[in-house]
Amino acid sequence: MDIWEKKVLIDFGCFANMICASIESYDTETFGLIGGENKKNGLRLMTAPPLLSAEQGEDFVDYLACPEKYELAKALIDDLGLWLVGDYHSHPNAIAHPSEDDLITCLNDIKTVREQNISTFDWWLQLIISIERKDYKRNFKPVFIFDDDDDEIQVTVKRGKVGWKIHIMGHWCRLEELKEGDWCQRKDAKLSLNKKTYPSSWEF
Ligand SMILES: [Zn+2]
Repeated sequence: MDIWEKKVLIDFGCFANMICASIESYDTETFGLIGGENKKNGLRLMTAPPLLSAEQGEDFVDYLACPEKYELAKALIDDLGLWLVGDYHSHPNAIAHPSEDDLITCLNDIKTVREQNISTFDWWLQLIISIERKDYKRNFKPVFIFDDDDDEIQVTVKRGKVGWKIHIMGHWCRLEELKEGDWCQRKDAKLSLNKKTYPSSWEF
C-alpha cells in the first residue's frame, strides 16, 4: 500500500498547532512542517511546528527566507522521534485549493526534498488551511464545531464576537524526478481527525 492510500489521522496536538498558527497570523499566510508516525490504521500527524521566520504575505509565504530555521524545525521533528511527512500553509480568505503559485512552489519543494533526502516516503503531504474571519453580533462562549466528511475537515471556531471558518484539505505530491515542464503526480489525501486524542469534553 502506498502511503497516499492510507487514512491521514490528525492528532489533537497537530491540529492545535495548525489552527493556532493560522488564526494568529490571520492577515498573512502561515507555514509549518508536519511530523508524524506511520501506523497500521493510518498515518498519524502528531506535531506541526510553525516556521515563524518564514516571510509572510497576504497571499504568499516564503519558508526558505531563513533556511537554517527550516533545518531547525526539521531537526526538532527528528529529535521527537517522528518522521517529517510534509508541510502546511494557510490561505486567509481564500479556498483550500492549491494556487498556481503553490503548484510551482511544489516543484521546487520536490527538488529540495529529493536533494536533501528529507522524506522517508516517496510522497510529500501538503495541507492547505483555508481560514475566514466572521464577526457576530452576539457573544459566544468558546466553541468548536466540526464537520469531518469526505476526506476534508471543516471547523468553525467561535469566541466572543469573533469566529473563524476553517477548512483543511490535503494532497500528496510524488517525490519523483521531474523534467522541465513536467507537473508532479498528485493524489488527494484522505483526512480525518484522530478523535481519541481530543479532549473528552469535545463533541463531534
Ligand atoms: Zn497556497
